[in-house]
Order: sequence, then structure tokens, then C-alpha cells
Amino acid sequence: MIFLKRIEAFGFKSFAEPVVINYDFAMTGIVGPNGSGKSNITDAIMWALGEQSSKSLRGDSMEDIVFSGSSDRKGLNMAEVTLVFDNSSRAFKTLDYNEVSITRKYFLTTRESEYYINNSQVRLKDVQEVALETGLTKSSLAIISQGSISNFVESSPEQRRRLFDEAAGVAVYKKRKEDAVRKLSRTQDNLDRINDIINEIERKLPTLKRQSIKAKEYQNKFNELKSIEVAVLVKDIQLYKQRAKELTNQKFELKNLIKDLEKNISIRSEQNKQISSKAFENDKEISLLNKEFESIVENIGNLKVAKVNLESKKRTSEIDDKEFKISDLKSKAKQLEDKLKSEEQKLAKLLVEKISKRESLDEHSKNRYFLNKEAEVLRKEIAKVESFLETIIQRKNSLEGLFEGVKNIIENKKVLPGIIGTVQELINVDQKFETAIASVMQNATQNIVAKNSNDVKIAIEFLKKNNAGYATFLPLDNLTASYLPNDIRFAVQNLDGFVGFANQLIKIEKKYQIILDYLLANYIVVENYDNAIETAKTIKFKYNIVTLDGQRILPHGAVVGGSRKVKNTQLTDNTKIKSYEEKKLELENQENNKNQKINFINNEIEKLREEQAEIQTSYGASNKTKEQLEKQLLEIKDEYRVLTGKDLDNDEQQFQSLDEQIISMSKQILDYETKKEEVQQKLNVIRNLKEKAIEKQNVLNESLEEERKLLSAYKDNYQKINSDHTLIVHKKETAVERLSENYNLTFEAALETNEANVEDETKTREKIKQLRSEINSLGNINFDSIEEFEAENERYQTYVEQSNDINDSINNLKDAINEMDEQMTIQFKNIVKDANSALPVTFSTLFGGGTAQIVYTNPEDILTTGIDIKISPPGKKIINLNLLSGGEKSLVALAVLFSILKVKPIPLVILDEVEAPLDIANVERFAKYIKTFTSNTQFMIVTHRMGTMENCDVLFGATMQQKGITKLVQIKLIEAKQLSNTN
Ligand code: ATP
Repeated sequence: MIFLKRIEAFGFKSFAEPVVINYDFAMTGIVGPNGSGKSNITDAIMWALGEQSSKSLRGDSMEDIVFSGSSDRKGLNMAEVTLVFDNSSRAFKTLDYNEVSITRKYFLTTRESEYYINNSQVRLKDVQEVALETGLTKSSLAIISQGSISNFVESSPEQRRRLFDEAAGVAVYKKRKEDAVRKLSRTQDNLDRINDIINEIERKLPTLKRQSIKAKEYQNKFNELKSIEVAVLVKDIQLYKQRAKELTNQKFELKNLIKDLEKNISIRSEQNKQISSKAFENDKEISLLNKEFESIVENIGNLKVAKVNLESKKRTSEIDDKEFKISDLKSKAKQLEDKLKSEEQKLAKLLVEKISKRESLDEHSKNRYFLNKEAEVLRKEIAKVESFLETIIQRKNSLEGLFEGVKNIIENKKVLPGIIGTVQELINVDQKFETAIASVMQNATQNIVAKNSNDVKIAIEFLKKNNAGYATFLPLDNLTASYLPNDIRFAVQNLDGFVGFANQLIKIEKKYQIILDYLLANYIVVENYDNAIETAKTIKFKYNIVTLDGQRILPHGAVVGGSRKVKNTQLTDNTKIKSYEEKKLELENQENNKNQKINFINNEIEKLREEQAEIQTSYGASNKTKEQLEKQLLEIKDEYRVLTGKDLDNDEQQFQSLDEQIISMSKQILDYETKKEEVQQKLNVIRNLKEKAIEKQNVLNESLEEERKLLSAYKDNYQKINSDHTLIVHKKETAVERLSENYNLTFEAALETNEANVEDETKTREKIKQLRSEINSLGNINFDSIEEFEAENERYQTYVEQSNDINDSINNLKDAINEMDEQMTIQFKNIVKDANSALPVTFSTLFGGGTAQIVYTNPEDILTTGIDIKISPPGKKIINLNLLSGGEKSLVALAVLFSILKVKPIPLVILDEVEAPLDIANVERFAKYIKTFTSNTQFMIVTHRMGTMENCDVLFGATMQQKGITKLVQIKLIEAKQLSNTN
């Protein structure tokens, strides 16, 4: 059989010139002297089939395979070998061609090889796979050197089995198994690495999981707590706000009550004082009147004694009894008439007085009526002013109409350093400028004045943190004024209708003037539109002008005008409050004045009434006295008529000097009596007045006492309400703070977002408590653990999946290896078994008798078992292989080789001087025996032995006619003999 049809070599080792060897016969002998290049042919075959080991090619490096030059010839740069195979029996199963050429080229410059199958460039791997199919590899059964033949017997059973591995065709499996095992090891390493990671994650995961569950639990509880606590806080805040409003109203009402009561008490105290001072005056008057009274009584007494003396003196005079009686009657009548006359005069006087008092009373009553009416009007006016004041103050204090951010800053002014207030809180705008100022200031009234820019920074952070809106701030340390140029100021001041510069028309504390200078210094205020246009023309439409009714001319000429609602501006609030307070004070003074007058009139009326009563009493008494006197006079007149028979009224009355004296004295006594009565009357009036004053004072003191008590009660109540109010405001602030601190919400935001419904408040509050304590008992929370756990867990799952996949692939690999092992075992066993069956024949053929057997050194493990050969040469017992001679050893090896070839023919076998140790007879036997295999196997035999040469179909001679350059030619046996002999 011919398998390798041709070898073409050029540049390979000693083939410095192109060499072509055509194989036309099954058994080719190659002869030639040592070093002529015979073995280079085998090397060329192995190299072309992809051999990578330079050692196997008997070199140090791959460059050594390129012709390196000889004494006569330069070295070459490349080597090329082509093998041409007959593939009609499809020895190359994978190549569906009848002829297959395999080429390898090597370039010194690049130190790289190129491979070609049937002239198409392929990869090394492709060539190696094809080579495996031929069995033509370095350790192969197909290339057998003398060394390997003698080694076969001497080597260990494990090395020996390689031959059977080759023959069994398990090399492919072995290579695959090696790959698989390498892969398995790599995969196992990978798995170990992944398992290490998995272990590491598994160590961390439980803690992370615990932490993450705890963090989630915290979040859930916190969210639940948030939803219900925000609802409760919102409800609380609403309630507190409502309650605070109620308490403010109560405070306001109580304050008014207290004020009124204090006013009353002060009025009553004043009255009390007046009464006391009046009482003092009365006492003084009483004392004077008493003295006068006493002196009158004394005078009366003296006169009465003198009169009695005169009367007794008259009795002791010479006049008779009748005369005396008549004279006495006359004198008494005269006295009675005088008394009567005096009494009548008194009555007339009293009547006049009575009328005068009546008139005075009427006059005073009338005055008092009007004064009361005036006081009433004043009181109404005061109430009106107070109500105005209350409205303005309440509006000023309420934060209605402020932008959200501004409102939140002002509400939290207490906790924000350096916040002074809004612009509108600081300015006083006169009513007449309100419209003009409102139109230029607009929202700037809500700018917040702060001490410095750092305070502003804190306030802005507060707004940001609480998501509480925005505001414009005016830090006093930053502001600079935008004054108009002096020439413009001078020019406009002299124009018609100029009112002023806006910053100067508003009142503000001096330290804040910069705010107005900053906001308004370049606004010119004029009276009306026409003035505005004139002014604008003068300043060439460069600056802002505003009219008193709010029309504006902007720089460059735009006009903003129309009707502006200024109702809700609070610009004039401060001015209004001041003016109303002044007005209230003025009205209160007026009311006081009226009240004093009314008081005075009241006292006068009282006094008049007292006097009137006294006059009435005196008048009654006097009338009675008059009647008695008339009666007495009538009696005396009757007695006189009885005694004299004459009518006393018609009788000429003649009085002696004593009588005259007595009458005169009586008259004096009478005068004194009248005077005494008058004094008495006065005393009575004053005493009554005093008594009444005391009574009044008592009543006054009682009511003062009551009012003072009431006042103290009101004040206590006010204190209580005030502290309740403070408490409620504090509670509200705490709730607002809690919203902001715990949930980062302002009240308004909470109100908007709050959806929870608080049905059972007690239960909800208990739930809040419970959730808080549950959250507290959770201890430290690692919020990152949620994400970390998820990431680690995902990583863990991924690695576990990978580990499973790797395990699967390990199992697959192991299965594959097992399968390969099984396959190898089967194939190995088969070849051993088959070779064993052929061995006795081949052995006895080569030895000329005897027998041999192949045995496993470890039959339990076919995959690793070594191979032993038990032989019994002809006429000898089974002996130890090592005891054989060199030739015998070669014969044993050849017997085994031929047994294998018998049962597993291979297409090409190269034998390199394998028969060298044999004796001539055995060489002959050997050569002949080979011949029996040539129908299935092509042999290429490098030999020096004649017996072999003689049996070859064709012989090639290797010579080096040119030094260092191999030349191959077909030669005849005789030439071969000569060539061998030259060796
Ligand atoms: P023997 O009968 O002693 O085994 P041989 O005929 O088998 O000898 P080879 O071993 O085939 O001889 O050839 C060796 C020869 O090849 C040597 O002369 C060596 O110098 C030559 N040779 C080997 N490599 C190169 C090379 N790269 N360049 C030139 N000559 C080389």
C-alpha cells in the first residue's frame, strides 16, 4: 500500500536544494552514510505535520530547522516541506479528497510558520488534528527508531503502555481528556474562587439582612408614625391656632374690661377725694356756724335777763295792777306784732329763696343733661376710635397677605438671628402719599430687613431646609443707596407740582433710613400727570416719576397708570395707629373734663336739694309760729278789750320808757332768734349734706371695694388667660418645630399633604407612643444596609447561579472525562486483547519458536495500568525481560510492534535502523516479515543492513556530493551496498 506519495523539501535542515521523493512502492529503503541526511527526512515529515518541539526535531530552537549554510553555500531564510498523501481510502476521515497535500513554511525573519492543506492556508490546530489521524507523531507507533525499540523492553511498564495507547487510538481521547482535565482544573479554580466569594458574602449576608430588615422595619414604622403623627400634629396646630385666637380675643375683651374698670375706679376715687375735701370744708363751716350760734344764744340769754330785770323793775313801780296789766298787754301785743311781722318777713324771704333754689336746680339739671349727652357722644367716639385701632393692630399683627416665605420667616423670627422685620413694619407713610408709595414699592414692602448677610444666609437655609418658600432680604450691612445725581435733584425741586423724593416722604427710624434710600431714592413724587410729564421731559425720561394718585413714568418713557386698589396696603398702618391713639387720648381728656363738670353739678344739685328741703322745713315752722303768734295776739287783744272795753288796735298806744326798753329788748331778742334760726337752718343744711356725703362715701367705698376686687379678679383672669395663651402658642410652636425637625414639613406643607384621618384620637395618640417606643427600641439603624443587602444578595444570587453553572459544567466535564475513560478503557483493552491474540504467532515467527503474552501490571485500573510482556523464548522458560540480550530485546519489541500492526494496521511506518542489533539471520527474518504487512502498511526503512536492503522494493541513497547538502536519488542494490559500505 502506498499512503505517502511524495515528499518535497527545500531549505529544511540539510535540504539546501529542492528535494522530491516519490514513493511508488510499499517498502522503501533509505541508505547512505552517517550524517548524510537520512533522518532529516523523518524530521521533515514530522515537522510538516506540525511538530512544535525543536527537541523532537533534534534542534535547540525552531530556527535550527532552516538550512544554516555550509562551507560553500550561504544559509537560507526559509524552510518548506510538502507531504502528498493518497487519501482514496479516507485515512484522513475529515478530508474528503483522494489526494491531500500538507505544507509547512517557516520564515526566519518572522520566526513564524504557515500551514496549508491542499494549498489553502489553515491553522496549526487543523494540521495537528489531521496528523493525529495518521498517527505520524513523535511518540508514534509510526516512527520507530533504534533507540525506541531497545527502550521498549527496558522501559517501565507504564512507559511501555504508550505504544498500546497509540495503537488503541486513545491519543485523541487523551489529548481531549488532558484538555478536559485542564479545563476542569481551571473551572474548579474558578469555582473555588467563586465559592470563596460566596462564603465571604454568606458571612456578611445574615448581618446585612438583619440590619436591612431592621432598617425596613424602621422605615415602615417611621412612615406609619409620620402619617398619623403629621395628621395629629396638623389637628393639634389647627386647634392651638383656634384656641390661641380665642384666647387673644378673650385677652382683648378682658383688657378692655380692666381698662374700663380702672377708669371707673379712678373716677370713683376722685369722687371720694372730692367728698372728703368737701366734708372738711363743711366741718369748718359747721364750726364757724356753731360759734355764731353760741354767740347768738348768749346774746339772747343776756337780753332775756335784762328784759326780766326791766319787767320786775316795772312791777315794783307805782302803777296799779290794772294799769300795769294794760301796759303789759300793750307791750306784749307790740312784741307779738313785731314777732308776727318778722315771721311774715321771714316767710316771704323763704318763699323767694325757695323759688331761687328751684330755678337753680332746674338750671343745673339742664346743664347736667347736656353735659351727659356730650359725654355720651365722646364715649361713642372713643369706642369707635378704639375699634378702628383694634382692627388696624390686629391686621398689623396678623401675617395675612404675606408671601409664604416672608410669613414663615416672620413667624419664626424668634429662632432666627438678626431678623428685624418686614419693610412695612418699619415705615410710617402719610395717608396722602399712600397711593404713590404703594405703586412704587409694590412687593418691596414685604422685603425682610436683616442685620447682616450672615443672618440672611441662616434664614435662607431655614427656608430651604423646610421647603418653606422664598423671600427678598435686605441685609443692612450690604445696602447702598441709589441717589439721583445732585443736578437732577436740584432741577426737579423747582418744577411745578414737585412733592418730594420718595425716600424722604416716608418716616422711618434713622438707623433704617438706608432701606428707603436703597429702595426709593431715585423716585420723584409729583402732584399730577401733567407735572410728571413736565418733570420727565426736564430729566430726559431718565428716572422714575410717580404722581400722588399712583401713575408712573418709567425711565425711557413708559407710562404705567390707571386705578390702583390700595385698600389692603398696610403702608399707613403705623401712621394711622399713631393718629388714632392721639385722637383717643384727646377724646378721653374731653370726656374727663365733662365728667368733672357733671360731678360738680351733681354736688351743687344735691346741695340745692338739701337747702330746698331745709327752706321747706323752715317755711313750715315759720308758718306755724306765725299762726301761734296770731293766736296769742288775738288772745291779748281779747283780754285788753275785756279790761279796757276798747279795741287795742284803735287805742293809742303810749309806752313808758321802761316798756319801750322792754319792747326794744324783745325786738332784739326776736332779731337774734331769727338770726339763730337762720344759722340753725344753715347748720342743718350742712349737717345733712355731710351726713349724706358720708353715706355716699360709704356707698362709694363699698362699690370701690367691690370694683377693686373685680379688677383684681379680672387681672388674675387675664394673667391666667395670658399664660394659657403663652402655653398654647408654645405648644403650637413645639408642634410646628416637631413637624419641621422630624418630618421636614412646614405646617402649610403638612396641611396639603396630610391625608390620614384621625378618628379615635386617644387610640391614635397611644399608637404614636407605641410606634415611638418601638422605633426607639430598634436601636441603631444602618439605613445603607437596605441597598447594601439588596446589592450583596443580588451578587450572592449571581455567584450562586454562576457556581451552579460551573458545577454543571464540572459535572459535564467529569461525565465527558468518564465517557472518554470508558472509551479509552474499551479501546485499550481491545487492542491489548487483539495484540495478545496475534503476539504468539509474531513472536514465534521472529524468534523461531516460543511464545509471549501481554499482561496488565494493574488489571484493576486499565487507564493507568502498565504493560508487561511475559515471554518464553523457544526452549526457555518464562524469563525476566531484563535478562534478554540486546538483539532479543529488539526482537521482543518488534514482535509486539508487528502484533499491533497485524490487528491495527496503520498506513505508514518509518523504521529508523531498528534492526541494527540483530544478527544476519534475524535481519533476514525481520525484513521478510515486514513484507507480509505491505498490503496494509507503507514502510520507510532507514537501514545499513543488507538483509533489509535486499527485501526493499526500492532504495534511495542519501549523499552529500556537495558538502553539507543532502542529495537523494533512487539507487540500485549494488549502489546501496557501496553507499553502506562507505559508512
Ligand atoms: P546517521 O546514519 O549517522 O544517523 P544520517 O544520514 O541520519 O546519519 P542526519 O542525522 O539525517 O544524518 O543528518 C545530519 C546532517 O544534517 C548533519 O551533517 C548536519 O550537519 C546536517 N544538518 C542538520 N541540520 C542542518 C541545518 N540546519 N543546516 C545545514 N545542515 C544541517
